[in-house]
Amino acid sequence: MAGLIERYRERLPFAAGDPVVSLGEGSTPLVPAPALSERVGAEVLLKLEGLNPTGSFKDRGMTCAVSAAVREGSEAIVCASTGNTAASAAAYAARAGLRCAVIVPEGKIASGKLAQALMHGARVIALRANFDVALALVRRLVAEHPIALVNSVNEFRMHGQRTAAWEIVDELGHELDALAIPVGNAGNITAYWRGFREVLARENRPRMLGFQAAGAAPLVHGAPVAQPETVASAIRIGNPARWEDAMDAVTSSGGAINAVSDEQILAAYRFLAGREGIFCEPASAASVAGLLAHGADGARRVVCVLTGHGLKDPQTALAQVDDAVIPCAPELAELEKAVLA
Ligand SMILES: *Cc1c(COP(=O)(O)O)cnc(C)c1O
Repeated sequence: MAGLIERYRERLPFAAGDPVVSLGEGSTPLVPAPALSERVGAEVLLKLEGLNPTGSFKDRGMTCAVSAAVREGSEAIVCASTGNTAASAAAYAARAGLRCAVIVPEGKIASGKLAQALMHGARVIALRANFDVALALVRRLVAEHPIALVNSVNEFRMHGQRTAAWEIVDELGHELDALAIPVGNAGNITAYWRGFREVLARENRPRMLGFQAAGAAPLVHGAPVAQPETVASAIRIGNPARWEDAMDAVTSSGGAINAVSDEQILAAYRFLAGREGIFCEPASAASVAGLLAHGADGARRVVCVLTGHGLKDPQTALAQVDDAVIPCAPELAELEKAVLA
């Protein structure tokens, strides 16, 4: 399958001869979730964004941001990241032959994401501060140096991320009542809403149901959170850069923004893995936790965006299932006992 710039070029700001840096991102599956649908009382479909090349939706925006950076003659890119933007930026920079630096909150990034950024040769800088401080500092850095900023404040990221909404509409038409999505820096909910607005008439647009982690829910409280805390490290953000855009998406779509606790997030995370056979990362499970806790708000059909793959964060997964591995001596009788017990 072609990458998404090729798939949607006529709606994206790239002309025929422009450089394209692609890893074959986009065109992710929309999978029915029968067990979840039964619990929620609505038809729920899961958009598996963890199947993008680096394992998260960030690749949609990154193919556009990095292609544009190459077109502009940039030699280096930089981002602040809770992990997935770093992994994606590092991969696309490697592909394009650009230098890449990623600024992450020290000790707060999932190990899979760190491994990716390092393997792709990015300069990984662990800041003794949270994401919000990192983003503010990086914005000052790029004001002084000729380095392209590839956070979702970069409009090319928004251009690319709209394609997920178009894929859903390509598949379902306007037979969609609501979109459930986790919200961190609020770029993705903004991009989906822009995408829907562009291809659906007003009366056919889905309601945007955004979910934040209770310990990092500035949009729910209506005020920044100085020390955001949650097990869902990808959405551990206290002062979203796309604050107004996200609130506009929620308000103009007749949607809502709600909080879910870490316990609810982890329960949804286990439910998806154990009952639907789908392993997403904790932040992604926030959207499912939200549907389970708050219902589908009268929607008949809901798409739930699973933003990142479960393999990103093996520590959190293993902490959910500790002591579950059964040791066994290499003898048939022992094996029988172990298997059949
Ligand atoms: C980045 C990210 C989010 C949050 O997206 P925003 O655009 O920052 O709101 C949610 N889940 C995962 C897995 C992410 O990587």
